[in-house]
Formats: sequence, C-alpha cells, structure tokens
Amino acid sequence: MTTTNGRKKGRCVLITGARRGIGRATAYAFAEKGDDLIVNDVIEDEAARETLDGIAARGGRAHFLKADIADLASHEELVERAFSAFGGLDVLVNNAGISVARRGDMLEATPESFDRLMAVNLRGPFFLTQAVARRWLREAPAPARSIVNIASANAHMASIDRAEYCLSKVGVAMMTKLYALRLAEAGIAVFEIRPGVIRTDMTAVVRASYEKRIAEGLSPVRRWGEPEDVGRVVVALTSGEFQFSTGEVVHVDGGLQIARL
Ligand code: NAP
Repeated sequence: MTTTNGRKKGRCVLITGARRGIGRATAYAFAEKGDDLIVNDVIEDEAARETLDGIAARGGRAHFLKADIADLASHEELVERAFSAFGGLDVLVNNAGISVARRGDMLEATPESFDRLMAVNLRGPFFLTQAVARRWLREAPAPARSIVNIASANAHMASIDRAEYCLSKVGVAMMTKLYALRLAEAGIAVFEIRPGVIRTDMTAVVRASYEKRIAEGLSPVRRWGEPEDVGRVVVALTSGEFQFSTGEVVHVDGGLQIARL
C-alpha cells in the first residue's frame, strides 16, 4: 500500500481503475472537494504514482490498492483495506473497464475477448459491489453512501465492431437498477453514468477517425469529452443533493444519444 499524507477528513471514496483516464480525473475531482481516495488499479507504476501525487497536490489523502477487479479472490482484502484506510467507506465508483481485444467484425469476436470483457466490466464490479454492500449493511447506517457505475453510451447504442463491450455495458446498466432496488431501503443510492466519446488511452486507437466524426457532428456538442467532464458528474451525483433519486442514468456525451431526424 502506498500512502500520501494529508491533514483533513472528508468522505472516503474507492475508485477502481483510477491510475489514469476517467478514474484519475474522478479522483482529482473528489480530492478538490476534500475527500479521501482509495485508488485501485491492476498495475502500480509511474502513472499510479502520478495520480497519488496529483491527489496530494489538490490537498487530498490517498492509498493505492493494487488488485485485479476481475479476480474475485482479491475482493475481500481490497474491501477490508479500503474500509480501514481512512476509517470507513462512503462511495464506491465502479470505473475499471477494458475495451475489446481487437475492434472488428463481430462475426470474428472470440470467446476469450468476450469472457475477459465480462469478467472485468461486469462480473468483477457486480461482486465487488456485493462485498461493499454487505459490509455497509453490517455497519450502522451513515448518510450519503452511494455507488456510481461507469457504463457507456454502448449500454444503449450498438457498435458492431465491439459487440462484447456493448453487452458488458448493458449488464452494468441492469446491475445499476438491481442494486438501486436492493439498497434503497438502506439509504444507499446507486447511479449510472454513460459517457460518450471521452479522450483517454482507451480511445487513443480511434483518435483520428473520431476526430473527423466529431467535427462532422457525431455529438451535437462538437468536441471530445474529457475525463474531467465525467469526474465532475460523479462528484455531483454523490454529493448528497439527490436524496430522492436512485437508479438514475446520466449521459455525459455532448448529446450523442439524442435521437435525431
Ligand atoms: P483507460 O484510460 O483505459 O483506464 C482504465 C483503467 O482501468 C486503466 O488504468 C486500467 O488498467 C484499469 N483496469 C483495467 N482492468 C482492470 C482490472 N481488471 N482491475 C483494475 N483496474 C483495471 O479507460 P477510460 O477511458 O478511463 O475508461 C474508464 C471507464 O469508462 C471504463 O469502464 C470504460 O469502459 C468507460 N468508458 C470510457 C469511454 C471513453 O470514451 N474513454 C466511454 C464510455 C465508457 P490497465 O492500464 O492495466 O488496463
């Protein structure tokens, strides 16, 4: 476990896959609000160090917990350490995710890519959420506990060059509804964010083609989404201001999903 030292006590937030991209930007957005971060990722490298330094630079405290979310055997220790790092956990952000092994014709999609996508994007988050929820239900109720699942516009929009990714994100959408229903009585809100085209390493392989499609009006707001666009929405949803809402989906996509004629 790597630790950066700080001084204050905010909420404690566990973000999976947070050493770069949307997860990192979300961690920074929480740090700016004075919250403490548990940064999870599958690799602890220079990028992870940069994320921890970035959190510290914003006045936040952070622990790095290395774990592969797809490895269910790692969850017990991950959850235990997340809860003990700052004396409890208030927010879980299921962000870690991968894309297809290779974009291309879905008639060529492999069982290996399908299984890996499901393991990382759906099975892992489902059981991690279960572990966190069980722990919360064992503890005394606390205000503003919440879960945010980072799904995708592909939970709704079909991309036949990455069918298995779409299917995994449809699963995340149902997972949001299921946990929202199950946890409502305990006062735990569950939200889903469906990002559109966001400028991260995940979309680097299609940077040039999306550049063109965005300029041509792919989304009514003609620009790339930035990881910070998503991070700010995660912080807003978990702020406690949406007290009579749960199971909601927020699109962070520049209007991409508005049906047009
Ligand atoms: P990213 O830049 O590739 O970052 C994802 C992070 O998650 C990486 O650090 C990655 O580590 C980590 N990760 C992958 N598998 C993991 C595992 N099994 N356990 C723990 N960490 C793991 O991707 P991103 O664009 O920020 O995406 C974040 C989330 O947003 C994903 O769920 C993605 O599906 C979703 N999303 C992204 C976009 C977009 O346009 N970028 C759009 C819609 C939805 P490695 O480097 O080792 O892989």
